[in-house]
Amino acid sequence: MLVLRPFIRQVVFRAARPHFIAAPRYSSTLAEDVRSDSTFRIPLIDFAAYKQATSLAEKRRIADDIVNGFKEVGFVYLTGHSAEFFQLPEETKARLAWDDPKANRGYVQVGRERVSNALDAAEIASLRAKAPDTKESMEIGRENHPTFSNKWPQETEVPEFKQTMLHFFQTCHEVHTMVMKSIALGLDLPEDFFDNKIDRQDHNLRLLSYPPIRTSLLLGDGQARAGSHTDYGTLTLLFQDSIGGLEVQNPHTEHYQPASPIPGTIVINAGDLLARWSNNVLRSTLHRVVAPPAIKVNATEGMTPARQSIAFFCNPNFDAIIESLPSCTSTSNPSKYPPITTEQYIVGRLAATYS
Ligand code: CA
Repeated sequence: MLVLRPFIRQVVFRAARPHFIAAPRYSSTLAEDVRSDSTFRIPLIDFAAYKQATSLAEKRRIADDIVNGFKEVGFVYLTGHSAEFFQLPEETKARLAWDDPKANRGYVQVGRERVSNALDAAEIASLRAKAPDTKESMEIGRENHPTFSNKWPQETEVPEFKQTMLHFFQTCHEVHTMVMKSIALGLDLPEDFFDNKIDRQDHNLRLLSYPPIRTSLLLGDGQARAGSHTDYGTLTLLFQDSIGGLEVQNPHTEHYQPASPIPGTIVINAGDLLARWSNNVLRSTLHRVVAPPAIKVNATEGMTPARQSIAFFCNPNFDAIIESLPSCTSTSNPSKYPPITTEQYIVGRLAATYS
């Protein structure tokens, strides 16, 4: 179990009733269940069983469940924890301002980023003007990077913040490494296949805060707390609070389904580079964050509560060449993509997303 030391106030998870256990089901496989929205589910996987396995056969059973989850849904719940930064004064956050798409570090003000799958910068600019993402974030990258430095608050401003985040970063890196081992096994590759391609820690830790907002501002055309998008890297580890709001597109029906917070779990989804690496055997699924139910403030206005989450975006090494895995291609299913390095792919996507 991941434990991130709380340094301001611990986020308390309310017991949520996960929708995927709400009704008895009669079909037995994930592949069958996800064909219909009424039985759609994100599989819950106990990863302890993988780490404690004493034989390859035992590991393979969990690995197959994980790969099956990423094939059918693109998301799994893995058996986590959370903390916050966003009660810092605005001046402190402003000093940590995000300034360079290559560095991808520091604090991003509300409305500056609009996540989108549109690749054209002009199109994203027009989307941003129409419906700015109502969120704030703090970005933390690899600490020992040769070129870029993280922007840390002073120790007196936020005691133990840096130490806590570095520890959390390392723990997330280790989770990524282990889950990628299981994916290698599940794809008929040696368990260590990805190890030397994902060991540089070229990841991004993002602390996300969705401030409370008048509900009327969320109801306009194109508005959502974070627009529909896919992630760029291998895996994203998402630590949700109890408020929720994450919705996942059922890839089989294209309808969005809530990924309800489940205490003690990490939501993990496959990103575009993993989908590309697997020649689309694994899915990078569209997802979004919608406003939770409003709290009425008067006859005509409601407020949606604040929501906080932590996302850890895992990447292969920036110089790793991502080309279709041998076990995911055949003469009948040739490679769909030319090789690309992680850096080429991700810098291209980020440059289009930020202004
Ligand atoms: Ca995402």
